[in-house]
Amino acid sequence: MALSGLDIYKLLPKTNCRECGLATCLAFAMQLAKKAVAIEKCPFISAESKMILETQALPPIKPVVLGNENLKFEIGNETVMFRHEEKFRNPTGIGFIIDDSLSDSQIKERLDKINELKFERVGQLLEVNLVSLKQNKDAKRYLEAVKLVLNSTVLPVILMSDDLDALKQAAEIAKERKPLLYCATKDNFTQIGAIAKEFQLPLVVKAEDFDSLTKLTKELSSIGVSNLILDTGIKSATEKIWDLTQSRRQALRKLNRALGYPCLTIVDKEDPYEEAMEAAAYIAKYSAVVLIKGIQAWEILSILTLRQNIYTDPQKPLQIESKLYPIGSVNQSSPVLITTNFSLSYFTVLGEVEASKVPSYILSVDTQGMSVLTAWAAEKFNAECITKSLDEHGVKNTINHKNLIIPGYVAVISGDLAEQSGFEIIVGPKEAAGIPAFLKNLN
Ligand code: SF4
Repeated sequence: MALSGLDIYKLLPKTNCRECGLATCLAFAMQLAKKAVAIEKCPFISAESKMILETQALPPIKPVVLGNENLKFEIGNETVMFRHEEKFRNPTGIGFIIDDSLSDSQIKERLDKINELKFERVGQLLEVNLVSLKQNKDAKRYLEAVKLVLNSTVLPVILMSDDLDALKQAAEIAKERKPLLYCATKDNFTQIGAIAKEFQLPLVVKAEDFDSLTKLTKELSSIGVSNLILDTGIKSATEKIWDLTQSRRQALRKLNRALGYPCLTIVDKEDPYEEAMEAAAYIAKYSAVVLIKGIQAWEILSILTLRQNIYTDPQKPLQIESKLYPIGSVNQSSPVLITTNFSLSYFTVLGEVEASKVPSYILSVDTQGMSVLTAWAAEKFNAECITKSLDEHGVKNTINHKNLIIPGYVAVISGDLAEQSGFEIIVGPKEAAGIPAFLKNLN
């Protein structure tokens, strides 16, 4: 856990000299705890205290970037055990293991399907993240397959091989894509660490127990390889969840830097239902990367939906972009319905407007993701806010009439809104389910 202001204060000179620009050392300590000032602002802090504070300031789980500038995602950098304590920051990367014993056409076919695994849900695009190529055949075949994968997908790549010569050649071929190397063990960490260092690549470190993992991460850090990801191997789901949980506890509660890295998990199940369930458990507790084999859309949709729900910020409701949405073949005389940018509100209204088959506009007002009544109570969905949104999104220039439909629950704002916006206000139904009949009878 991060040091408190009082913990930091104990490490300061306590002279209240004001050289840092603050009135007291305690004030400086409080600001440092909030990361609002830099340690360097105090010129009198001892080297030993500075080292302690700098070490404490590092994220307890190192952030690791996978992929290159064109397509990358970050894992790690988590700061809490439980989502309600703040939020989980970096969604679990979902990847697929392909091996080089498949024919070129089979690899290409699988990659084409993986590339299409994109789903839109409550206004967000859900996508998979990685392709992992495993070596089963000789080096020549592996390198051919690496080239095929690189040419067939833009997703970040994991190179999985026990053949260090083949892995080094594969890293050379793929270096622009910044592949993740799999994996360093007690037998090969010096050589594979050298490859990771030469090409500046992230590296998976694999050992069955934490003592062995600790030794390996320390050895690799000492030679300058520190973008590491931990793997404790394929185990039963119960053992694996224990490993993942202990790893996070060690990093967050004990500040064990040797285990302060994101974790990777491979799901080794042939049955897609079992595979999906096990992947779900590892996403929930606390895998930063989950690799599977199944590429069926139903399986991936379930996994990505779960991930989306776990990795939303519990303090921020899901929201969509605030704008004027045309629904169906609208024209200038189409009705305009007003709602909030809370995803659930918008998509509920959208579903009913579509069901009505009456082409309409929906204006989603920026209420910071609050629903209609909550936003109204918080004064984020009042006449002033709606008028501002009407102006911002050019509603007057889009339509040739002067009518707006507001939710029945906020009928009370119709007078003010008419006055401020210059529109005539029609009070719509209280429940979205009433929208189809309402729109059909509007004329
Ligand atoms: S410069 Fe250092 S010693 Fe002086 S008041 Fe600030 S924190 Fe305290």
